[in-house]
Amino acid sequence: MSKISSRVAIVGGGAVGSSIAYHLQSDPSFAGTISVIERDPTYARASSALSASSIRQQFSTPLNIHLSRYGIGFLRCASELLGVELGLKEPGYVFLASSAGEAVLLANHAIQKGEGCAVELLDPAALRQRFFLDLHRRSRTCLSRYRQRRLVRRTGIDAGLSPQGARAWRAVHRRRGRGAGAQRRHLALGRPPGAGTIVLAAGPWSGDVAALAGIALPVEPRRRSVFVFDVREPPGPTPLVIDPTGTWFRPEGRFYIGGTTPADGNDPPGAPLEVQHQEWDDMVWPTLAPACRPSRRPRW
Ligand SMILES: Cc1cc2nc3c(=O)[nH]c(=O)nc-3n(C[C@H](O)[C@H](O)[C@H](O)COP(=O)(O)OP(=O)(O)OC[C@H]3O[C@@H](n4cnc5c(N)ncnc54)[C@H](O)[C@@H]3O)c2cc1C
Repeated sequence: MSKISSRVAIVGGGAVGSSIAYHLQSDPSFAGTISVIERDPTYARASSALSASSIRQQFSTPLNIHLSRYGIGFLRCASELLGVELGLKEPGYVFLASSAGEAVLLANHAIQKGEGCAVELLDPAALRQRFFLDLHRRSRTCLSRYRQRRLVRRTGIDAGLSPQGARAWRAVHRRRGRGAGAQRRHLALGRPPGAGTIVLAAGPWSGDVAALAGIALPVEPRRRSVFVFDVREPPGPTPLVIDPTGTWFRPEGRFYIGGTTPADGNDPPGAPLEVQHQEWDDMVWPTLAPACRPSRRPRW
């Protein structure tokens, strides 16, 4: 088999950049070198580190379902493949639908079943019986198992790469202090130092990075807030629940986390990534409270 020999630079070391580096390095037909260029190895603002870390299979296209199922399969073997214990959990993933959304839910459910997903349709009575949710206006739900993942951090990337890949990764980090200006200059020319192929994996900042090479890419960051709350009487194993408005919650350790999708007029691109506490008062709590039995309302 002929080997592909190329110098590859991956801009961005979040879940996507790390996964590309890992899979490229693991590909027997690849004989090149890989550099991951990450501006912030603490991942303080990376979506991968700040996400709800939940993996669903309830998508509306086979492609997304396949991606997710591959990801789950990979994470099941994470301790073996990456040498790190991710602590996956499977309490499930429940999508709620109003009467208006029932047809879409049913159509998506058929696609998911066709792709072999373990999904079930539940009516409100079944949902109330299985979980603690009390749904007044929602007619149907779709439940599937999900896996919780921890970010594959730098240690995971190191463990996943071959010694050669890990050396390249560490070299990038050693050069970090003086790298930003040089990287900008090289990207402006469309080619970072010594790279034959550039992979753009800068997540929500990919539009900014593409602009360095004169490419207009319609990708921009949008702010999302995640809230932590306590529950006086935890109801037992709870899935991730997402309602038709985009409000969601799930257990996280002894607490719960939740959030919502901001209203259209309040979702500007490039807004500062600070938590919007008003969203809790205006959107998350008013949605969650009626769904909880009185004795089990979240305490906040
Ligand atoms: C609040 C929230 C909750 C979410 N919940 C879920 C969920 O439950 N399930 C799910 O599947 N998805 C979820 N997502 C989406 C998921 O987090 C993202 O799709 C995924 O993490 C994207 O990974 P990424 O590697 O593309 O981006 P990122 O993780 O953002 O990584 C991009 C990296 O590029 C780096 N970078 C940027 N610019 C440069 C540059 N110029 N030079 C070098 N490096 C650069 C950044 O520092 C960053 O580390 C959520 C997202 C958010 C914000």
